[in-house]
Amino acid sequence: MNSLDAAESALTTLDALERAGLTHPAQRAALDRVTASFRVRVTPEMAGLAAQGVRAQFAPDIRELTILPEELADPIGDASHAPVPGLTHRYADRAILHVTKACEVYCRFCFRRETVGEAGQLAEAEFAAVLDYLAATPAVREVIFTGGDPLVLSARRLGAMLDRLEALGTLEVVRFHTRVPVVAPDRVSAGLVAALDRALPVWMVIHVNHPDEITPAAAEALRRLNRAGVPLLSQTVLLRGVNADADTLEALFRKLIRHRVKPYYLHHPDLAKGTGHFRVTLAEGQRVMAALRGRLSGIAQPLYVLDIPGGHGKVPVGPAYLRREGDHWVVTDPQGREHLYRDL
Ligand code: SF4
Repeated sequence: MNSLDAAESALTTLDALERAGLTHPAQRAALDRVTASFRVRVTPEMAGLAAQGVRAQFAPDIRELTILPEELADPIGDASHAPVPGLTHRYADRAILHVTKACEVYCRFCFRRETVGEAGQLAEAEFAAVLDYLAATPAVREVIFTGGDPLVLSARRLGAMLDRLEALGTLEVVRFHTRVPVVAPDRVSAGLVAALDRALPVWMVIHVNHPDEITPAAAEALRRLNRAGVPLLSQTVLLRGVNADADTLEALFRKLIRHRVKPYYLHHPDLAKGTGHFRVTLAEGQRVMAALRGRLSGIAQPLYVLDIPGGHGKVPVGPAYLRREGDHWVVTDPQGREHLYRDL
């Protein structure tokens, strides 16, 4: 199936989801209200997977109608760091470029669910303003393409944008954050791979949450990117009902390194509106990470991080293996045993 066929057969209505068994007709009235505020889209690759941990990510749920007091429209504070439309500049050396609001799938837990879901791309005049800002701000060494999903843009458009960013002469690396190689692997075409293969290094961070998402077609897409010299990292959101247990995450991270993808971030779920049913506690996340420490090779260990609500940045959140007691440290080993350590 080519990408056009895949796009044509993506499930975008409740009728289509019901036929695919992803939603139940008895919940139709409530789900109409859910999808009025965050649209539906599931690619055939994902709709064809039976694992509940995959289906729960894309099937609308009436619990999305429950908005908790702590939930925010912009949980990681993108808007408070936007010097020009389409750009988030939170850290001195890097900036996030929002090139589209569209995605190949709409994940029900999305931290940008208040802004993604519309058609359209960053306008030419907006991109020109971004280039002007970057030219005047040479401290920015890295631009991160995000969205929505930046790989829904054509290879030609992405290549043209990369040419102009490369011509600035100030960037050391460009990064893409995308779900496409997993959810719509046919989009990783020869043309796209050629557009990414350039002197300016292009890195890719692939959003993947469950081991079954790495289908044979996804594995082939990862291989094409790998052969083109694109370093591959992953980011995973820790989600109740999807992957919030050590067995599922161990299977995912092992599968990723088998396909030459370095697990990079495990995100604590953000406080996005209507996503409380997906959230776990920080203590649960730390317990899962502690269990993985003893079970997985270092190259398969991601960093467990929290985006501090309000746009205050991302920090590792443990678990901690070191604490101070008087004139010495207490170090906890992967099996949970404690040891004394003295430094100078
Ligand atoms: S692909 Fe990314 S941006 Fe798009 S809905 Fe999923 S989490 Fe949100």
